[in-house]
Amino acid sequence: MAVIAWIGLGHMGGPMAGHLAAAGHEVVGFDVDANAVAQASAAGIRIARDVPSAVTGADVVFTSLPRSEHVREVLGGDAGGGVFAAARPGALVLDTSTVDVATSRWCHEAAEARGIRFVDAPVSGGIAGAHAGTLTFMLGGAADDAAEAAVLVQPMAGHVFVVGGPTSGIAAKLANNLMLFISLLASSEGARLAAELGLDPSVFHDIASVSSGDSWPVRTWYPVPGVVPTSPANRNFDATFTARLAEKDLSYALAAGEAAGLDLAAGRLALDRFERLIDEGYGDKDCSLVVKYVARDGRT
Ligand code: NAD
Repeated sequence: MAVIAWIGLGHMGGPMAGHLAAAGHEVVGFDVDANAVAQASAAGIRIARDVPSAVTGADVVFTSLPRSEHVREVLGGDAGGGVFAAARPGALVLDTSTVDVATSRWCHEAAEARGIRFVDAPVSGGIAGAHAGTLTFMLGGAADDAAEAAVLVQPMAGHVFVVGGPTSGIAAKLANNLMLFISLLASSEGARLAAELGLDPSVFHDIASVSSGDSWPVRTWYPVPGVVPTSPANRNFDATFTARLAEKDLSYALAAGEAAGLDLAAGRLALDRFERLIDEGYGDKDCSLVVKYVARDGRT
């Protein structure tokens, strides 16, 4: 069993760290938020007073932080306050956050410069998957490090993919989420068109979900109330995955596309819709609220 430091005990990190503690690892956590700390402490995680105290002496360090800038700050830090400065040489650091490719590359390079091993380890499966321990992990790094990471993440995982070298995990995550959010727009438009043409929403959903219009959003986030039990449309679009997170993931995917010389036109349209939700004060609502822009008068 390993000594594991976990930085960022939020909606995802808290339950994920809890699975590692339940599996018998000694888990030491840190978060700047008092609520996150209290919940993690109740789940058997020993709480440290800052990043260096959590990381010093750990064999493995996990991070689960909101955005790229938080990851750079917590890992890089300054004056010895960051993970890379405090971790022992040879420690394995896994970042499960969704970051942009340039930040992931920076993590690999900064870690290597200090003799620390780094694996990009983003996840899919949401808060429900974090609680259930059924996340999909996408691992990118040196072969030996990624293989070690694949064993470590098992208590939190339903599926584990060793994707390839540095940044390949985050590349898989961003390409997947680009597809997800374009599919969400497609299912929103199809669902609204079917309803306006007089179809019973449940009958049309049954057809689409076994036909060529099928997708994960059709089966999970169908944006018409009363059709799919898991849909946020049943609960006033209270968030399962916020519009703000969707905007972040898409902007990172589009930045990667631009750097690769690709024209991701459908992705740009989807990003525009999530930016509009945020501008209009719906950033903390579920991303499936984009269905409101299908109707010209903003009806959901
Ligand atoms: P969250 O905001 O609930 O958790 C992030 C935590 O990081 C917070 O508790 C925050 O206080 C803490 N934090 C911020 N700055 C810190 C610092 N300097 N030091 C220590 N702690 C700090 O977010 P989340 O939903 O748990 O998501 C975490 C990451 O996982 C994000 O990158 C997100 O994109 C990714 N992700 C989220 C989901 C999801 O459904 N929520 C799904 C897949 C991936």
